[in-house]
Amino acid sequence: MSIDRSSSKTPILNATREFYAKDTLPCIEDEYGFQTWYHGTGISASQHPDQRHIPEEEVYCNQCGSPEVLMIAWQWCVHPFSGDQYYDSEVWCPHCQSFSSFSYAEN
Ligand SMILES: [Zn+2]
Repeated sequence: MSIDRSSSKTPILNATREFYAKDTLPCIEDEYGFQTWYHGTGISASQHPDQRHIPEEEVYCNQCGSPEVLMIAWQWCVHPFSGDQYYDSEVWCPHCQSFSSFSYAEN
């Protein structure tokens, strides 16, 4: 189990490619791809409505390392049979203007 990380100058995850350009609110809850996603123009991890599931130590820019990033997508779930946890997230960094994703699967 490990966290996959990448960064880009354009949105990375399918959810952010779909929603980021159209979003007008910092963070909304939405059904997308049979999962519950939070997406928006961006909100700090400490203000996020699903903050209890967010590993804040993992929330930083993959490009410049800044922790002062805005979460623009977040999805977390537990597999109904195995109990394994999964999440996908993307942040935007105002310091270096980059998008960073991080994803985790507990198996
Ligand atoms: Zn950055």
